[in-house]
Amino acid sequence: MPSELLYKYPKTLLNKGTGFLSGYTHSLNPYTGCAYGCSFCYVRQMPVSTFRDGEWGTWVDVKKGAADLLQKELKRAKSKGEVTIFMSSSTDLYQPVEHEERITRSLLEVMVEHPPDFLFVQTRSPMARRDIDLFLQMEDRIRVSMTIETDREDIRKHFTPDAPAIRGRLKTLQLLRKAGVPTQATIAPLLPSSREFPDLLKAYVDRICIDDYFMGDGSGGRRTENLGIRGKYEELGLEKWYEPITYQKLIKRFRRVFSEEQIHVSREGFMP
Ligand code: SF4
Repeated sequence: MPSELLYKYPKTLLNKGTGFLSGYTHSLNPYTGCAYGCSFCYVRQMPVSTFRDGEWGTWVDVKKGAADLLQKELKRAKSKGEVTIFMSSSTDLYQPVEHEERITRSLLEVMVEHPPDFLFVQTRSPMARRDIDLFLQMEDRIRVSMTIETDREDIRKHFTPDAPAIRGRLKTLQLLRKAGVPTQATIAPLLPSSREFPDLLKAYVDRICIDDYFMGDGSGGRRTENLGIRGKYEELGLEKWYEPITYQKLIKRFRRVFSEEQIHVSREGFMP
């Protein structure tokens, strides 16, 4: 749980899809801040983080009144044309405090009532399984993408110790898929993994997306370099995993068990 929890009433919720997300009309963040505080999180370098005193990962703002606001904004946006939503771009929609606050669930309920043309749900949390009933009501207008950066827990703990364990995320993918919710496993940022990683994922998903710092941090890897992430690889003697060509080596491994159509790379794998 973050050390600082604030309750705020936002004036707007739906943001225009820009940059990496320009394939979407909107992005939607139920919270500001993120308790998972991943070391590589590029949001650390954005104004939302740099204008705050507390370090990224130590504070979360809960957006109160979000469902009513979304209902109004969604109705207005839908009256103007197609609405495609990426949820979420600068937080994880399943914050630990979501267990009590249920902001994300209230937003999903609004979207079941007033469905956007497409909703992409991006998370690292097994809590997504709680909302399977709502995802199912959105039929093929939704994809739930679970981040699985690596199959190695020791690596996960080194880079993102406060994020949920890999095993729970895989279990949730299994439950989502079994229920019939469109899913994908997102290896982003790709972290050092074992040779068996592709075989492991094959048991859970039939679609994967691979992304790295150099394609996915919005600055060709500069933001990640500024965060000192290279040093975290050096501590492990695994610098060879921190190279712009590493993703191509990983793709080769995944081609052993996934078809070309099942493997998506960077931005394309997140699009509607
Ligand atoms: S879960 Fe996502 S938003 Fe949260 S700290 Fe990690 S990368 Fe950033």
